[in-house]
Amino acid sequence: MIALSLAEIAAIVGGQQHDIPDPDARVTGPVVIDSRATQPGSLFVAFAGEHVDGHDYAERAVEAGATAVLAARPVGVPAIVVADVERALGALARAVVERLGTTVVGITGSAGKTSTKDLTAQLLERLGATVWPPGSLNNEIGLPLTALRATEETRHLILEMGARGIGHIRYLAELTPPRIGVVLNVGTAHVGEFGGREKIAVAKGELVEALPAAEDGGVAVLNADDPLVRAMTARTKARTLLFGEAPDAHVRAEDVRLTADGRPAFTLHTPTGCADVTMRLYGEHHVSNALAAAAVAHELGMPAEEIASALSGAGQLSRWRMEVTERADGVTIVNDAYNANPESMRAALRALAAMGAAAAAKGARTWAVLGRMAELGEESLAEHDAVGRLAVRLNVGKLVAVGGREAAWLQMGAYNEGSWGEESVHVSDAQAAVDLLRSELRPGDVVLVKASRSVGLEWVAEQLLAVD
Ligand code: ATP
Ligand code: MG
Repeated sequence: MIALSLAEIAAIVGGQQHDIPDPDARVTGPVVIDSRATQPGSLFVAFAGEHVDGHDYAERAVEAGATAVLAARPVGVPAIVVADVERALGALARAVVERLGTTVVGITGSAGKTSTKDLTAQLLERLGATVWPPGSLNNEIGLPLTALRATEETRHLILEMGARGIGHIRYLAELTPPRIGVVLNVGTAHVGEFGGREKIAVAKGELVEALPAAEDGGVAVLNADDPLVRAMTARTKARTLLFGEAPDAHVRAEDVRLTADGRPAFTLHTPTGCADVTMRLYGEHHVSNALAAAAVAHELGMPAEEIASALSGAGQLSRWRMEVTERADGVTIVNDAYNANPESMRAALRALAAMGAAAAAKGARTWAVLGRMAELGEESLAEHDAVGRLAVRLNVGKLVAVGGREAAWLQMGAYNEGSWGEESVHVSDAQAAVDLLRSELRPGDVVLVKASRSVGLEWVAEQLLAVD
């Protein structure tokens, strides 16, 4: 972060200085919430959690070199004391981002935020120093912590903004006001929790409402293929940049296809030209994520050819997202256990089918080891049924549905769709799935593992990789 004196920080957050011998002492970063991550010059932010109270670690943090602590009460070591530590952290982030003048890119959507964030980072790094969060740090604490990693060199700050409800993104966008706001999709993720797609659209759209007007540089990057996202054009004063496969999209994919081994390929069109992209990532849902990233890169001045080459080179994203690993015996494990929704289930199955088509020629089979998709509300039965049916239609060799009621729906869908008897099985838990696969897998087989986060199916992928 940029160096700030304790007096400056106290003024920014409206805090009281306690036990501070030298108000000119400087915080040079990093700002941390875990005392073990403290470095000389850190600001340690003490949160009172449910189980652990950060204030108990204040002394340790200062011993480890922290210049001071941001806290809710005096702690006997140099501290800036505020009424609300979370808000103070946000205020500090906002002040630092404003002072730096860094271009902030905010990304939201029901699915694909982290993937798009990672792809965008791989593109923007080519244009200049870029800061982005690891993994899915997308809430009111993760966002400011990421923003505070920016320095004078930082040209772009990419932030993932998750919405838990109405007003949440508005708040995040106030902490670190984006100039470019990306809305990926309004899918079915969390539909049960929110109570309907339209409500989700209201929540996600807060990002484009928060953008500066077009004349002040605001740009809304919107998915032209998602009607609820496209409609957000009417909710923003920013200029709109559409991405997608729709003919009127400014940044467009044409001739979208899967390569023989299941990777998406397409021709990228931007206002500066067109170029072919063959992604290293699996899953055609990444085409949409790639286009969103491309739109941001285009906006920041990158020509189409360079975007296409960067997208073609973009490697593995964060963990457990279509992570393809080949075992020594030639069994391929596709670990997409990070999360699942109907859209990504379909994309993952299509990728599996494409990968399997090559394997089938050598007598190998494809396996879809699937668990439930959470938070689908009353659409749950129909969506699980549809995924089971799609597995049959795509000629997936064997469906292993893991878990309770929803898994049964997956299997019934497969069963009802076609001639499947023993090709689809329902097992009660992950251990049973591992036992089954260990005895059945043959060299060359391709295994997709996917379910909602709460199922924790990555354990299955890890177990299968462990028996090399
Ligand atoms: P979270 O809200 O959990 O942080 P996220 O929005 O960051 O999720 P990712 O982590 O990128 O999303 O992807 C989560 C899952 O959603 C992946 O496993 C993938 O299967 C699926 N997914 C990714 N991109 C898309 C997309 N554009 N459309 C539909 N599904 C997608
Ligand atoms: Mg995420």
